[in-house]
Amino acid sequence: MKKKYSIFNIIKNTLSKNENWQKMWRSPEPKKSYEVIIVGGGGHGLGTAYYLAKEHGIKNIAVIEKGWLGSGNTGRNTTIIRSNYLWNESAFLYDHSLKIWENLSSELNYNVMFSQRGVMNLAHNEHDIKEMRRRISANRLNGLDSRWIDTNEIKKLVPIMNTDNLRYPVLGAAFQPRGGVARHDAVAWGFAMRADEMGVDIIQNCEVKKIKTENGKVLGVETSKGFINSEKVGVVASGHTSVLAATAGIRLPLQSRPLQALVSEPIKPVINTVVMSNAVHAYVSQSDKGELVIGAGTDGYNSFTQRGGYDVIEETVRAIVELYPIFGKMKMLRQWGGIVDICPDASPIISKCDVKGLYFNCGWGTGGFKATPGSANVFAHTIANDKPHKINAAFSLDRFVTGRLVDEHGAAAVAH
Ligand SMILES: Cc1cc2nc3c(=O)[nH]c(=O)nc-3n(C[C@H](O)[C@H](O)[C@H](O)COP(=O)(O)OP(=O)(O)OC[C@H]3O[C@@H](n4cnc5c(N)ncnc54)[C@H](O)[C@@H]3O)c2cc1C
Repeated sequence: MKKKYSIFNIIKNTLSKNENWQKMWRSPEPKKSYEVIIVGGGGHGLGTAYYLAKEHGIKNIAVIEKGWLGSGNTGRNTTIIRSNYLWNESAFLYDHSLKIWENLSSELNYNVMFSQRGVMNLAHNEHDIKEMRRRISANRLNGLDSRWIDTNEIKKLVPIMNTDNLRYPVLGAAFQPRGGVARHDAVAWGFAMRADEMGVDIIQNCEVKKIKTENGKVLGVETSKGFINSEKVGVVASGHTSVLAATAGIRLPLQSRPLQALVSEPIKPVINTVVMSNAVHAYVSQSDKGELVIGAGTDGYNSFTQRGGYDVIEETVRAIVELYPIFGKMKMLRQWGGIVDICPDASPIISKCDVKGLYFNCGWGTGGFKATPGSANVFAHTIANDKPHKINAAFSLDRFVTGRLVDEHGAAAVAH
């Protein structure tokens, strides 16, 4: 039965002390076989199952998650959403997603708290200015709402920012007003709930140990709950995708590194947009609870520790305090890390591979949350039709053979 969220439902459940809410999804035991298996219960994996069921009529699907839903990077990220990437291919992909974000709460009838408060990328030197102006021009040619703002406008939008008395002065910024933030858990839960209603089995606490193949075809997956048969397997396991691919004999061009973030104690509203800086490598926004949400960069080496080096956090906090001196006295509440999967060209892989029935959606690095609904939508198309959607055709694995890379290091240089 469709679970509805309405003001009446909330009042009714408040009166019964919130003890009678319906479960948002079932917890089934895995069946012996499925038409499609999705490995990874993050936003991209759950969204893929949702679109496979909704748009392609495939209902016999399992999403297999080794922990709990959203326990990977979906529940660990700083939720910045924007689409102002340089190349046409990326702009189309990320804006496809941004357009879905704009209507996602109503589509899922679940509030993903998408807040379009704008995203600002600061320029601190001549190189930044040239790179950002070039990107703004490319964005505008692609119909995106990207524009240059000067220091006066920056000061109006963020009065607490120190723009000139610092090592790297602020010289202007690229600004995308339609960008913003959303509530990460809600995205996973919203997709999970609606996929479950359409019959998708969401299986948590079940680790995929091996992808089984024979004669160039996928047969299914070995899991901690036994073997599950399927002729189509989509792997959406972020930092652990290369490990899973290796079990099928495939070597992916990915590096897995810890990426960290931290939040402060809550304070009254002081910053009503998202501010990012590549040069000093830090970014900040303020959550609805009032916490400053601060993002750092990746560690300089591969690792699966989900923690990250202290030096990275120290450097980030130094940069934040220099840009916003009033944050100097604040206490930080929590710090954490997630394992991100980085491609050599800083663009994702949404692709088939040489093994029939095996598909990968990975390589989102430090910036895949923003792409969640769009990526899921085109990945579902790729799996259902065994060929890419026109939006993800450029993000196939063979670009690392043909050399047609989509180099987004400029637009993706800071973790976001
Ligand atoms: C600190 C941090 C900040 C970030 N900030 C931003 C940001 O501001 N904006 C942005 O756009 N992006 C950001 N990102 C990146 C973003 O979080 C990811 O690109 C995105 O969430 C990836 O989603 P996903 O569904 O592909 O992966 P995940 O959410 O990681 O889901 C993959 C799932 O696969 C599961 N899994 C792994 N191995 C197995 C296995 N063997 N068997 C079964 N399940 C398995 C994992 O447990 C996990 O739940 C950030 C990332 C981090 C770590």
